[in-house]
Amino acid sequence: MSRDNQYDVIIIGTGAGGGTLAYHLAPSGKRILILERGDYVAREKDNWNPQAVNVDARYNTKEIWRDIQGRDLHPHTNYYVGGNTKFYGAALFRLRQQDFGEIRHHGGISPAWPISYNDLEPYYSQAEQLYQVHGNRGEDPTEPPAGKPYPWPAVSHESRIQHLADDFATSGLTPFHTPLGIMLDEKNPRQSPCIRCNTCDGFPCLVQAKSDAQVLCVDPAVEHSNVTLLTNALVKRLETDATGHEISRVVVERNGSLETYSGDIVVVSCGAINSAALLLRSANDKHPQGLANSSDVVGRHYMGHTNSVLMAISKCPNPTIFQKTLSVNDFYFGSRDFEYPMGHISFVGKLDAITLRAGAPAIAPGFTLELMAQHSLDFWLTSEDLPDPDNRVTIGHNGEIVMAYTPNNLKAHDQLKAHLQKTMKQNTCSVHGHECHQGLFSRNLYVGQRIPLAGVAHQNGTIRFGHDAKTSALDVNCKTHDVDNLYVVDGSFFPSSAAVNPALTIIANALRVGDHLLQRMGVTTAAYEASKNASPEVEIVIG
Ligand SMILES: Cc1cc2nc3c(=O)[nH]c(=O)nc-3n(C[C@H](O)[C@H](O)[C@H](O)COP(=O)(O)OP(=O)(O)OC[C@H]3O[C@@H](n4cnc5c(N)ncnc54)[C@H](O)[C@@H]3O)c2cc1C
Ligand code: SF4
Repeated sequence: MSRDNQYDVIIIGTGAGGGTLAYHLAPSGKRILILERGDYVAREKDNWNPQAVNVDARYNTKEIWRDIQGRDLHPHTNYYVGGNTKFYGAALFRLRQQDFGEIRHHGGISPAWPISYNDLEPYYSQAEQLYQVHGNRGEDPTEPPAGKPYPWPAVSHESRIQHLADDFATSGLTPFHTPLGIMLDEKNPRQSPCIRCNTCDGFPCLVQAKSDAQVLCVDPAVEHSNVTLLTNALVKRLETDATGHEISRVVVERNGSLETYSGDIVVVSCGAINSAALLLRSANDKHPQGLANSSDVVGRHYMGHTNSVLMAISKCPNPTIFQKTLSVNDFYFGSRDFEYPMGHISFVGKLDAITLRAGAPAIAPGFTLELMAQHSLDFWLTSEDLPDPDNRVTIGHNGEIVMAYTPNNLKAHDQLKAHLQKTMKQNTCSVHGHECHQGLFSRNLYVGQRIPLAGVAHQNGTIRFGHDAKTSALDVNCKTHDVDNLYVVDGSFFPSSAAVNPALTIIANALRVGDHLLQRMGVTTAAYEASKNASPEVEIVIG
């Protein structure tokens, strides 16, 4: 292999995990190769077109996976520079401190993590700075202790949401501002990169103002001359040396042919499902069950949260443009009526009639889809699903991804819905009284794609980390127990899914693993800091 194809570090995938790690390692001066199967998201008007995004699924992969019965799955996932952060709603939560310990749920046990909240806290603070999180400390009753304030004040509520927040507070809840990674400067609207639009959650940002891994991490990383990014570079398999303890070659399909690269360190960050698939596809005689899979956990314990959208159709119209500003965690760990954890309540982006038409929800009597969209409060409910070894990713006969998943802990989710509905009924609207909020019904989020399993936005858990090589595939530094130069830094490492959105934890962990890798490569703090301070600033171009 020519020297040109040899690197100190190869990072596979550019999402929350891989993109952040590339940013963190770039100032080290080490030769870094980033391999991304996708391209840059084209900047075009369709970025903000609900028909193109939500109905035509323009940006979703066209790959077809299968469920365990052999039926087609059209996964709601995206292969681009920046990974799924290009499309995410940018609600950037820390896990709760207790989520790192063992928690008893109605459906079973959520296991402890091998690191504590305190181990990750400094990296959460760094992650919030890097992803420019807007929030207010001290509002969320379940908020874990934080070493630093948020770098930006919370995104303000629009009037309908402020009204709801006030009503919730009156009824005894403690609503708070959702921590958000959007580059909105409300004090200086003329200069603000973010224009506060209604096409954010699920859409790529046309004006590059979402805190995503491409804009904030990959673009600045490739400014460093020691960093190379290859797009449209699909990693097909990883090969080991004769001992089986080192990755010797990374096999990549690019421009219709196969290329090979080698790295002293190889970091897989393809998203929890694709990373597991890559390791399973890389089985060899030293690793017959799949690479780094002597534990037989690779691909198992798939989690993706139990999520649903609950549309509260109220008599009051809801003209909100940017709806994702409000959250409620009062039921996260349980209530007087239900002693087990239920989860987290927040919002999706404001639903419109086009998106609703694609999802074809049952129409509330007396409402057209347009009227429904004008009057709905579109809640996003998240409950923890528990790690079940039989919920797993495997590889089918034709090399395709196969997903087996039986939902669990559903009682908690039903209770969360019931608690929200009860609260909404208690609320008194100044115009319509109690009945304002009473027309409630729920539907699946993934409009136009009615297969719930295809909704893999919050995928995690498939290559869990832990102390014991018999029950985990990664050690506490996210290095595989079995292969000395192989790491995984996407959502795969979660031993439990908690019930808040996963991206900030993936980002924080990538920074933590990044520090470990800098140490492993002998990069001194002084040299690193000097190079970092000399790094070019990224310029956010307003379109
Ligand atoms: C619509 C939507 C809304 C969301 N909203 C939120 C939110 O508000 N808050 C939150 O915390 N999370 C949210 N998420 C989830 C969040 O985006 C993910 O948790 C996060 O992006 C996962 O990071 P990752 O690094 O694990 O994987 P990804 O971000 O998926 O990155 C994986 C990368 O690997 C690449 N890749 C895959 N296979 C290969 C291969 N074989 N070779 C080369 N490259 C490969 C992919 O193209 C991709 O770029 C949302 C997701 C979606 C889809
Ligand atoms: S302009 Fe702001 S609200 Fe609109 S997509 Fe971009 S980041 Fe989101």
